Amino acid sequence: MRSSTDRRNFAVGPRNGGAAVKGVTQRVHSPDQSRNDPLEDDVQAFLIDEDQLHTFDDLTKVNPVTPATVLKCLQARYSLKVFYTHAGCTLVALNPFQPIPDLYSVDVMKEYHYATQPQEFKPHIFIVAEEAYRNVQGQLEPVNQSLVVSGESGAGKTWTSRCLMKYYATVAASAQAVSSQDAVERIERRVLDSNPLMEAFGNACTLRNNNSSRFGKYIQLQMNRAQLLVGASVQTYLLEKTRVACQPANERNFHIFYQMMKGATDEQRTDWKMPQDQCFVWLPNCEKQIEEDGFLETAEAMVHLGIDAERQRQIFRVLAGILQLGNVSFCSSTNESQPCDLDQDSEDFLQRAGDLLGVPGEELCRCLRVRTLKAGKQNVLKPCSQAECGVRRDCLAKVIYGQLFEWLVTFINSCICADQSKWCNFIGVLDVYGFECFQINNLEQLCINYANEKLQQHFVAHYLRAQQEEYVSEGLEWSFIKYQDNQSCLDLLEGSPISVFSLLNEESRLNRASDSTALRGRLEKELEGNGNICWDKFSKVPHFTVAHYAGKVSYQLEGMVEKNKDPVPPELIGLLEKSDNLLLHEIFSDKETEIPQSKGLSRVTVISKFKNSLENLMKLLLTTAPHYTRCIKPNSDCRPLTFKNREVILQLEACGIVETIHISAAGFPIRIPLKSFVQRYGPIGKCSTSSRLDADPDAESTNVLQQEVEKLLRVALQHNVSCDGRRSLVHCGKTKVFLTQLMLDLLEDHRGKIL
Ligand code: ADP
Ligand code: MG
Repeated sequence: MRSSTDRRNFAVGPRNGGAAVKGVTQRVHSPDQSRNDPLEDDVQAFLIDEDQLHTFDDLTKVNPVTPATVLKCLQARYSLKVFYTHAGCTLVALNPFQPIPDLYSVDVMKEYHYATQPQEFKPHIFIVAEEAYRNVQGQLEPVNQSLVVSGESGAGKTWTSRCLMKYYATVAASAQAVSSQDAVERIERRVLDSNPLMEAFGNACTLRNNNSSRFGKYIQLQMNRAQLLVGASVQTYLLEKTRVACQPANERNFHIFYQMMKGATDEQRTDWKMPQDQCFVWLPNCEKQIEEDGFLETAEAMVHLGIDAERQRQIFRVLAGILQLGNVSFCSSTNESQPCDLDQDSEDFLQRAGDLLGVPGEELCRCLRVRTLKAGKQNVLKPCSQAECGVRRDCLAKVIYGQLFEWLVTFINSCICADQSKWCNFIGVLDVYGFECFQINNLEQLCINYANEKLQQHFVAHYLRAQQEEYVSEGLEWSFIKYQDNQSCLDLLEGSPISVFSLLNEESRLNRASDSTALRGRLEKELEGNGNICWDKFSKVPHFTVAHYAGKVSYQLEGMVEKNKDPVPPELIGLLEKSDNLLLHEIFSDKETEIPQSKGLSRVTVISKFKNSLENLMKLLLTTAPHYTRCIKPNSDCRPLTFKNREVILQLEACGIVETIHISAAGFPIRIPLKSFVQRYGPIGKCSTSSRLDADPDAESTNVLQQEVEKLLRVALQHNVSCDGRRSLVHCGKTKVFLTQLMLDLLEDHRGKIL
């Protein structure tokens, strides 16, 4: 497998964003001199000024690699509509926010696919795709690949994942599509059709993205020995199911509801009890014209995936039932011993909800308004308050929607997954939510940011390993990088015996109302002295602040334990088990283990379930060769071709590019091929090789070059008092010299004095 560090060959760009290089700039900026210089190519490398920034295909070649220079380089490229840039083993993808004709056409796919050396082409997501495709079969044994796509909401992750899937559906099927049209086409089609279907149910219009994925996913594209796409499987993570019953201001519910509202036929409207002029509380911002025309596409995808008409009807009736449920509201009760009444009109909505969900209206009404408590062997009925009734209604909608989504994913898997004997390796595409830091953060952000910490740890380990491989192949000893990884933050979150997760889980398993002030006190006491967590002593809102690798985030404790419990009243499950809607009945009649139990210490919490699924993902990722794509959103208004420095730099920090830069800086960020090195710094060692290089091919032999390098380094280091005994600033490898920034500065200084 080609080491992913290969791209980081030597080239030195403008320093400090084009500012003068100490003692160098004045001279090398003389155009005449550079034109006549026989070493033009190499000097050129030192020459590049701000006007040339856009020419850097790889950010690690920018010198020095600082956030500021990296930012300028990306900006220069973006203004020229160059959206992809390598950053060592990572691909940075800037969102154009407008269609770019011909950038993703089948012809372009083929260009990259059939190229002998695609990595020499302009940076493109297809390079990553093709690299993974070539690596998946490995030379000795198959190596599964993972394409990890990250970035904040609206940055382009889902777009990129779709693009990758289309690439494989094209290049990994074309050979056979001609001979066995049906079989191959069907599976490609199905794999691609899983996208609009999952997006209809799992995406929504938010303030950050009109088509925001409210779940994470890892899709494995299964390849046979002939490297053809024969199937796929999807694993999803943490659907934001609260959205079904509660949409943040100016945001919307999941697309599917709007698609139904707009796309239904008259017949369907009647069947779903959804007249055109009906208003639904859980369907805000209906007037926005977004993603609504997708109904036909969704229905078509259902057909392609084998969801028959009857099943479709069951699905849509359940969804319509949820909307009716949203219009049910309760009055405040005057008598605590009596269940509170339904608001005006709610009776009708409730009856319709019951009808669509396949349960008797009266029973639904009772389950929403009366709690059954166990007292010894007896059941005691306790009327719920107005607020409790609302919570139960929302809870019912969430559990139905959450389980329906899981059913859908399982169904999709059952029809796109190839038989184990038919495939031998896979390319995985991971599209997960990026690091989040809002004004108010709660359990969702804690889980999402925890996932990002895990992925960052994986990335750092991979990146260091790649560097190590390069050092070893260059004959350098490996002891240079002492990098502080994010293990301490992960220990704080998930460690044992005491961590944020263990304390939240413990609290969630206790059968008592949670008190966020007391909980804050407990966290503070138990985690005292941990440098990754702190509290604002003056804040009235109970919270804790975690120092993540991407920045500090304050999490509000109010409501966190309840969210972690995600309780589902057993009466509601009992009701759904008996549903006449075959789909609901099927989903809920054997769900005991999946739904958090209401009693006992072993209760599955949201955190424990998420942590578990993430651990499995990490185990799987570790068995694959990773490729990272970091999507960047150049401005938060989704405006085409607009690049906002501050917004981009924050994302570079959050997605770890700045971190990568720091890691590079901890090792030897500058690598110069032996020949270039001798040519440029030869005068320091007063060696004659540099002038002989062009005339005498023998002088280029590695040994001679290495000796020359050693000689001139000795001289340079001797001359420099500050460098005395600091031989670790530079190492001579088999083909390249590895330097720190300090050493480069010293050499340049030295060279400047001699010339
Ligand atoms: P994310 O999944 O990261 O939240 P999306 O992939 O949904 O973000 O992208 C948000 C929007 O940005 C898309 O709907 C699309 O309009 C636009 N977009 C993203 N990537 C590209 C691209 N490469 N070319 C054109 N438009 C893009
Ligand atoms: Mg997305």
